[in-house]
Amino acid sequence: METAKERIQTLRKELHDHNYRYYILDNPIVSDYEFDKLLKELQDLETQFPAYYDSNSPTQRVGGNITKNFETIAHQYPMYSLSNTYTKEEVEQWEERIKKSLGNQTVIEYTCELKFDGASINLTYENGQLIRAVTRGDGIQGDDVTTNIKTIKTIPLELRGNFPSFFEIRGEILIPWDGFNKMNTLREELGEPLYRNPRNTASGSLKLQDSKLVAERPLICFLYALAGSNLKVSTQYEALEKAREWGFKVPDSARKVNSIEKVFEFIEEWEIKRKKLPYEIDGIVIKVNRFDQQQELGFTAKAPRWAIAYKYQAEKVSTLLQGVQYQVGRTGAITPVAKLKPVEISGTIVKRASLHNADQIRKLDLRIGDLVYVEKGGEIIPKIVGIKEGHRGQPYNQVHFITHCPECNTLLEREEGEAQHYCPNEVSCPPQQIGKIQHFINRKAMDIEGLGGETVALLYHKGIINNIADLYQITAEQVLPLDRMAEKSVQNLLEGIESSKDKPFEKVLFGLGIRYVGETVAKRLAKQFKSVESLQQASKEDLLRTDEIGERIAESLDRFFKNPEQQKIIERLKNSGLRMQVDESLQSKHPAFVNKRFVVSGIFENFEREAIKTEIEQLGGVMASSVSAKTDFLIAGQGMGPSKREKALQLNIPILSEQDYIALKSS
Ligand code: AMP
Ligand code: ZN
Repeated sequence: METAKERIQTLRKELHDHNYRYYILDNPIVSDYEFDKLLKELQDLETQFPAYYDSNSPTQRVGGNITKNFETIAHQYPMYSLSNTYTKEEVEQWEERIKKSLGNQTVIEYTCELKFDGASINLTYENGQLIRAVTRGDGIQGDDVTTNIKTIKTIPLELRGNFPSFFEIRGEILIPWDGFNKMNTLREELGEPLYRNPRNTASGSLKLQDSKLVAERPLICFLYALAGSNLKVSTQYEALEKAREWGFKVPDSARKVNSIEKVFEFIEEWEIKRKKLPYEIDGIVIKVNRFDQQQELGFTAKAPRWAIAYKYQAEKVSTLLQGVQYQVGRTGAITPVAKLKPVEISGTIVKRASLHNADQIRKLDLRIGDLVYVEKGGEIIPKIVGIKEGHRGQPYNQVHFITHCPECNTLLEREEGEAQHYCPNEVSCPPQQIGKIQHFINRKAMDIEGLGGETVALLYHKGIINNIADLYQITAEQVLPLDRMAEKSVQNLLEGIESSKDKPFEKVLFGLGIRYVGETVAKRLAKQFKSVESLQQASKEDLLRTDEIGERIAESLDRFFKNPEQQKIIERLKNSGLRMQVDESLQSKHPAFVNKRFVVSGIFENFEREAIKTEIEQLGGVMASSVSAKTDFLIAGQGMGPSKREKALQLNIPILSEQDYIALKSS
C-alpha cells in the first residue's frame, strides 16, 4: 500500500509529465477528465497533509496566491535590448562590423529566430526546480513575478533530462491570437473597453495581484536564451535544442545558417509566413551562433554586438481624417473612433481607426482634415500612428474630446488614474440602457429565450421598456402590434421572461451589470453574502474582506447599491419574484446524487463511514444497506464484504472507489 507521501509524489510526477505532453509536445495521453481527476486527488491529499507542501507542485498552477507588492530583484546577468535594423543594408553593415572584429577569414554561423512580441521574462532554475521569475524591468532589475508565472502551463516547474544545476533562461510571454480574441469577446459582453493588443495584455497579466486571474489568461512562454556560468553548451543553436530537451517550449522555427544570404532567405520566408502564425512576431533576431565568438564581440551599453533584430515594417498608409465619432458602451465608457477616407491596407478597406482615449487625441494634436498615417500592426483595429507633416488640417479644426455624452448630454467623468471617460448617467442614457438590458438577457446571465438584442432595442425605442425591471411588466397587448411580432413569438417571449424568474441569484447578480462584476465575481459574492439585502448592507470593508474582491470592485458595488434608481430596480425585481438570495436547498444538492441509491461498504482513508453517508444524503442521494437491482452506486472502501461486491458485479452496478467517489462529488 502506497503511503500518502508516496502517492503525492507519484501524482506530482505524473501530472508534471501529462502537463509536458500536453503543453510542450502537444501530444497528451490522458483525457482532460482524467487529468482533472488526478489533480483533484493531489489537491485533496495536499490539503489533508500540509506537511508535504511543495511550491512547485502541479496544484500551484491554478493560482490563488495574492501578491500585493512585487519585489524588485537585480538581474545577475543584465537583460539587454537588441539593436534594430529595417533594411538588408543595415544587416550587411552589421556583418561587416562583426567580421572586422573576429577577423575577416573567420567563418561565422548565425541562428535566425523569430522575434516574439510579448513580455520578456527571466527564469531561474536550481536543481531542476523553477525558483524565480523576474520581468525584464529596465534590464538591470525587474519585478519578481514568480507566483504568477507558475500558472503558465508552458513553463516547466520541474525539468527533465540532464540540465545544469543552476542557470537562467530567458523567454517571451505571449498571448496567441485566438486566446486574445476570446478575452475580448468576454470584455465585450461585460461592456468593458477592449484590450488593444496581445503584447500589452501579456505584460499587464504578469503584474496582476491575483494569480488565479493570471491562470485564467491564455498565456504561453517561448524560450530563446540561456544565461549562466557553467552551461556546457557552446552555441546558441545547441542552447535552444538543450532547452527543448529539458522541457521548455522552444518553437522549431529557429534555423542555423552559414551565410548572410541564408539569413536574408529566412527573413523573406517569414515576411510571408508570419501572417499565418497563431501569435504575433515583430521581426527576426539574428545571433552569432558560437558562444566564444559572442564573448569576443561583447556588448555595447545597451545591446549585444553579436545579435541584431530585423524588424518587419507594419504596413502603413496615409489618408484623410474626416471626423471623430464617440461611442457609448453599456457601462458608459466612451470610445473615440476616427472616421477616415476609405483606404486599402494589407488587402482590406479601412474606414475607421481606433483612437483609444482623450490623451491620445491630445498627444497627436489631431485636426479634422489632417493626413494621418494608419497602421495595421499587432492590433485588431487599425490605429493612427502619426500625422504627415505639411498636410495638416486647419488649426480651428482641432479635435477636442467631448465634454458631454453624445447620446444624453450628461457631463462626462473621468476617474483618477483612468484613461477612459465615462457617461455617469447610468439610468437614462439610451445606449447604456439598451446595453444593460441586452446584458441582462444574455446567455450567461438570465438567458431569456425568445428575446434577442434587437428586440430589446425595439422595445426600448417604442417606450415599452426602460430598464431590466420593466421586462417583467411587458404584456402581450404591448408587443403584439409591433413589427415581426407574431402571436407565437410573443408567447415565447413572455414564457422566456417568466421562466427566467427561476434563475439562481448569482445569475441575477451578474445580470445587473455592475461594473467589474463578471460571472466569477458574481458567483463569489453570491456565495459570500447570500442575498441582495446583505450585499446592499455590506460596507466597503466587508466587501474588501471577501476573496478576490479588490478596491475597484468594492468601490463599484458600493456606488451601485447606493444609487436610488438602482435600489428601485432591485426592489421591483424582487417584487416580480426573481431570486434575490441563494437557495440553500439547491446549493448543496448535486445532480449526480439526487434521488440516486447508494450503498457504502468497507472503511475509508479520508472519511468516517458515517460522514460519507451523511454527505451523500446532503447531496441528495438516498442510503440503502444492501445491494439490490435498485442500487445506483456501490461505494467500496477497504475490506468491503465480498458478497456485496459479487452482487454488484452480477447486477452490473458501478463500484466506486474512494477516489471515484471524490471525483463524482467534484464533477
Ligand atoms: P527590444 O525590446 O526591441 O529592444 O528587443 C529586445 C527584446 O526582444 C528582448 O528583450 C526580448 O524580449 C525580445 N525577443 C523576442 N524574441 C526574441 C528572440 N528570439 N531572441 C532574443 N530576444 C527576443
Ligand atoms: Zn450618456
